[in-house]
Amino acid sequence: MADANGIAPDVDGKEKSKQVVARLWQLWRFVKPYKLQVFGALIALIVAAGTTLWIGQAIRDLLDKGFTAGPESLDRVFIGLMGVVTLLAIATFSRYFLVSWIGERVISDIRKAVFNHVLTLSPAFFEITRTGEVLSRLTTDSTLIQTVIGSSISVALRNFLLFIGGLAFLIFTSPALSGMVLLVVPFVLVPIIVFGRMVRKLSRSNQDSIAAVSSRADETLRAIQTSQAYTHEDHDRAHFSTDVETSFRIAVKRITARAWLTALVILLIFGAIDFVLWSGATAVVDGSMSSGTLGAFVFYAVIVAGSMGSLSEVWGELQRAAGASERLLELLAEEPAVAVSSNPIPIGSTIEKNIHFDDVSFHYPSRPDQAAMNDFSLEIRKGETVALVGPSGAGKTTIFQLLLRFYDPQSGCITIDGIDIAEVHPIRLRALMGLVPQDAVIFADTAMENIRYGRPEASDDEVRAAAEAAVATEFIDAMPEGFHTEFGERGIKLSGGQKQRIAIARAILRDPEILLLDEATSALDAESERQVQIALEHLMENRTTLVIAHRLATVLNADRIIVLENGRIVNQGTHEELMAEDGLYAKLAKLQFDVGRNALSA
Ligand code: ADP
Repeated sequence: MADANGIAPDVDGKEKSKQVVARLWQLWRFVKPYKLQVFGALIALIVAAGTTLWIGQAIRDLLDKGFTAGPESLDRVFIGLMGVVTLLAIATFSRYFLVSWIGERVISDIRKAVFNHVLTLSPAFFEITRTGEVLSRLTTDSTLIQTVIGSSISVALRNFLLFIGGLAFLIFTSPALSGMVLLVVPFVLVPIIVFGRMVRKLSRSNQDSIAAVSSRADETLRAIQTSQAYTHEDHDRAHFSTDVETSFRIAVKRITARAWLTALVILLIFGAIDFVLWSGATAVVDGSMSSGTLGAFVFYAVIVAGSMGSLSEVWGELQRAAGASERLLELLAEEPAVAVSSNPIPIGSTIEKNIHFDDVSFHYPSRPDQAAMNDFSLEIRKGETVALVGPSGAGKTTIFQLLLRFYDPQSGCITIDGIDIAEVHPIRLRALMGLVPQDAVIFADTAMENIRYGRPEASDDEVRAAAEAAVATEFIDAMPEGFHTEFGERGIKLSGGQKQRIAIARAILRDPEILLLDEATSALDAESERQVQIALEHLMENRTTLVIAHRLATVLNADRIIVLENGRIVNQGTHEELMAEDGLYAKLAKLQFDVGRNALSA
């Protein structure tokens, strides 16, 4: 098991630090192209840390010599100090700008790389990984990495330099007082660390309880109609209220602990400072230390303590980002299940003869024990319309998936004009095909762009012609802005039949060699049905077509009907031939195509 950062909890602290560093180091390949900026940022960082530390020396000079020497020397000290501060400002500007720039640049590159890569992955990947997870990697994980590259690493480096430098100056300024500080530190730090851990644990459970509250609200609101229809509101209210109150109780625990922690920190830290200052002041009074030395000492002590605090904060961020980068890089390393042959066979843009399934056996990767296709053989001649029918789960969709090379069969092969499609680049192969899925996909874009999706380079006139052929012009023109009407998220403004016609127009525009048509099962009213039918006829004209048939008209017009069951062909022929046999087809046809009713009304 791994913790929230993806790091196994049983590894010891040192191992864990190594893992964090190793994982973050893997991000270097994204940072590498910007070496020049990294170099500039490093210089700025060193200059800024150096000048900060130098200020302590200026304070010392000021206190020791500034007030006692003449006005000229006072001027020099202040002008010098101003110079140091200006340098610090310039260095800080450059550091901040460069480091943030690198962070933004690198994360933009990573986002593009991940998205581009995810688009190449096969459906097998999306079967096991939820889309939401991929999205959260693209957004949450990459934002974490951005913070780390664009700030945390530089904050860590700066504080590390300040800590080491500050400590050196501290010891150099007064070894005796430094020794005393070292003695006091454990008494201050140990209680703070112990208590701090407790507070952190509580804030995690606080976050979990808030997440529970919002997921409960999400679930209820999504099912609001069911909730209201079942008059379940009172229960929902009660559940929600319990969650909210639980979250409140945990929050109060956290607040209490935090308040105690704050008081403890103030007491311990100021107590320690008081103690050290008291020893220092005593030394100044009895003349064994100059006031400048004490001033510089205090300055360095503040720097060292501050940098230690920042380092411990940043460490948490680095750990989280290490987990995030591991997850992102994992995603980038994911290989598409469908291998692209190193030397793909070029395939023409038309098919001349046939598509051939030759003894194909296939099971889905997630179901190794159940064959979806069993020694399946089928030849589809150029221009032929083949209707696939069979009970649900018979393997109809699988035929499409294999033809599109979303998966490769485990044995047997599929050829187009004699070329094994496993040897063809998936992009070239898919360029031959047009897919009309059962549920038409509508994008939140205009009618024009939704249709143009089929062939992005098509002109407006070509889009209109496709819409015309798909019997879609009339309803699109009737919309407020015609072809420029926005369809809205998932096309909620469209009826089922309209969505189907948009999907058909898209396929007509694509003008594919091979049409893979999964007819919609949703019942349409008679008029829509007629329009969709005309649109489909235009689409299927003179095209090699494989259609998962749900309409009587389609099976009647098909050149051949293939009846499938359990991944095998159980029968084939025309509608009349198959009906005459009174087998599986006749049974299905009666149920699915309502043949009885049609016969009556004919
Ligand atoms: P049909 O389209 O005829 O309803 P499918 O081709 O979808 O049938 O399914 C054929 C068989 O493969 C069924 O047993 C189905 O459960 C299984 N199957 C389909 N898709 C997947 C998948 N993504 N992962 C695992 N099994 C699947």
